[in-house]
Amino acid sequence: MAKYDPRSLHAEEFINDEEIQEALRYAEENKRNVELIDQILEKARPQKTETGCVCSGLTHREASVLLACDIPEKIEKMYEIAEEIKLAFYGNRIVIFAPLYLSNYCVNGCVYCPYHAVNKHIPRKKLTQEEVKAEVIALQDMGHKRLAIEAGEDPVNNPIEYILDCIKTIYSVHHKNGDIRRVNVNIAATTVENYRKLKEAGIGTYILFQETYHKKSYEQLHPTGPKHNYDYHTEAMDRAMEGGIDDVGLGVLFGLELYKYEFAGLIMHAEHLEAVHGVGPHTISVPRLKRADDIDPDQFDNGIDDETFAHITACIRLAVPYTGMIISTRETEAVRSKLLRLGISQVSGGSRTSVGGYTQEERPHDTEQFDVSDQRTLDEVVRWLMENGHIPSFCTACYREGRTGDRFMSLCKNGQILNCCHPNALMTLSEYLEDYASPETKEVGYRMVEEELKRIPKDKVREIAEQNIKDIKNSNRRDF
Ligand code: SAM
Repeated sequence: MAKYDPRSLHAEEFINDEEIQEALRYAEENKRNVELIDQILEKARPQKTETGCVCSGLTHREASVLLACDIPEKIEKMYEIAEEIKLAFYGNRIVIFAPLYLSNYCVNGCVYCPYHAVNKHIPRKKLTQEEVKAEVIALQDMGHKRLAIEAGEDPVNNPIEYILDCIKTIYSVHHKNGDIRRVNVNIAATTVENYRKLKEAGIGTYILFQETYHKKSYEQLHPTGPKHNYDYHTEAMDRAMEGGIDDVGLGVLFGLELYKYEFAGLIMHAEHLEAVHGVGPHTISVPRLKRADDIDPDQFDNGIDDETFAHITACIRLAVPYTGMIISTRETEAVRSKLLRLGISQVSGGSRTSVGGYTQEERPHDTEQFDVSDQRTLDEVVRWLMENGHIPSFCTACYREGRTGDRFMSLCKNGQILNCCHPNALMTLSEYLEDYASPETKEVGYRMVEEELKRIPKDKVREIAEQNIKDIKNSNRRDF
């Protein structure tokens, strides 16, 4: 039997089943232990320092107690602290991105994904470089600056060279209003050598969802193909970091296994990255299983309701306070609204989950990966965010100036992100408002920009931001 060791590079040791079971038992025993719950909540709360504030985060055991707790006032307290953390480290900014599906060819047998190899009626499609270009132009025409590329796993149809060509094409498409500035990559687990190539191609975050941390279920849910190998998949982030990628994004697909198990595994994975590489995950995504071509989510017994989903999100926020959190258009406007307050820092908008979907007039469904619940346009999403007090941000300055990995985390930990991110968000939002927004969105947007400029503490920084925004309005651009 493998022993728990967060510093080990072996999946079964850092995501150790025995330790997860132990953590879940401890959480169950203490779920009404008010004294302990209060202590954990106090530990999670941001503490003021001379330069800003700090958070200590929680261990997987502590966080599991909070997730098991069913006392309504305590859950409310968790939501309150989650919001406090979010505002302390991320402010009211929300980063916007869109997924770009390159290819749905796939050799794996994932039983929850319509791209699985035995699905014979889904049309298979892979974008040519000309088509990638056309999709990028369509996304740029909407106002996007940040993409997450998605592809099935197929060494013949989508080898790493294909992915690299696509990245090169994306960065080469110049647009009068500005180029795509950051390409995040969500492709199957691969080798150190290939991660090094992705790094050299200038990717942002490497994202890979674990799907489930439960080894036995994992093997059943991925019965065939290279993805069947649990250890290879679970150790992917270590290889990515060895290959020089320092921003990695974790996630589990909620609905496949028991959520308390997944939650403990996810936090342990974050602890492992911190222990071995000195930097935790850059982002955590919280996808929930959706209906898709030949997939009915009711086939799986572990679906979670919206309240539980909110509880999980808040507990992640408390456990890993400096990690960005992503919610996609898998969720409805109402769910996204609630979760934004509880710690989400990135959302997708105007998304199409089909291969080649952005260049088609009508939303196509035939090659779609899953049903999109939030089908609003990017303009509608941007306006909605602002009407709810969030600043939509198209900023990618950190990445372009090399503030990734531990350099990003240390800025975040010192509360400095807020000093430089807030003005950057307002400037990039102003660019969006000038170039793309509907009159209604523009009005709401500039009202928000005026108000938010007043919140910049340093006079000098505020003056620069005000001047830059004037320049943007007068079509005098700089690269923020
Ligand atoms: N092929 C890569 C891999 O294996 O990781 C990229 C994955 S896929 C394009 C992106 C993610 O979509 C998957 O990791 C999975 O979590 C999610 N997904 C698959 N089927 C889904 C469904 N029916 N509903 C919601 N999300 C789904």
